[in-house]
Amino acid sequence: MDEPIDLSTLASHFTCKLCKGYLIEATTIIECLHSFCKSCIVRYLDDDNRCPTCQMLIHQSHPLSYIMLDRKMQDIVYKAVPRLQAREEERIKKFYLQRNIPVPQQESKLFKSSSGPMSNEGDTVNGTLEDLADKGSNCNYHRNDQQVSVVMSEGDSLPALRKKYIHCSIYTTIMSLKRYVSHHIYGNMEEHNSLDIFCQKELMGKDHSLEFVLKTRWRSKEPPLQLEYRERVDVI
Ligand SMILES: [Zn+2]
Ligand SMILES: [Zn+2]
Repeated sequence: MDEPIDLSTLASHFTCKLCKGYLIEATTIIECLHSFCKSCIVRYLDDDNRCPTCQMLIHQSHPLSYIMLDRKMQDIVYKAVPRLQAREEERIKKFYLQRNIPVPQQESKLFKSSSGPMSNEGDTVNGTLEDLADKGSNCNYHRNDQQVSVVMSEGDSLPALRKKYIHCSIYTTIMSLKRYVSHHIYGNMEEHNSLDIFCQKELMGKDHSLEFVLKTRWRSKEPPLQLEYRERVDVI
């Protein structure tokens, strides 16, 4: 029999620890999978490089490269909290109107709910509202790092990821992706050592960044970058 869901414990997953409000543009730290509002975590990482929840070191110098928009999480929050999405869209409209800036198409599209497995396509965002305010009416401002769409497929007899389309910084390393996969298929990040990641059937080194992989292995191909994870086979 299914246990009844305790809504109060569920609410803690929908709340940003930094602003104590419901998650807006839910953004997840790749290494530990804790989520925050995008604007909250981006601002926080200006001065700190550890996860506000578990204190894990995200990255010594480029913590922003190890967070990603979590569209699925945002969808769940919007579905669970009635009117939150409408309120947020209203707030954004007001933000632009007050500053006499036309509401950019991409910004308004951002807050629409997604559906279907390809819905993470086009998730890359142009900065936070605060970034836009700083840049005045320059709506072409892009967030600090270039983003890349990646689709992760399973090799051998490994289980498939529930979320195989991901969006992350081009500076994300193969190592981080291994941790991500390990967390999702084994329930912990420690078993990343038992995984290998391949692009075009070629083994990728753990320190390769996605930028490197794109430039050297994916050259003229269209996104998303296709990677495959397999169980490591040790050569004796
Ligand atoms: Zn927040
Ligand atoms: Zn954390």
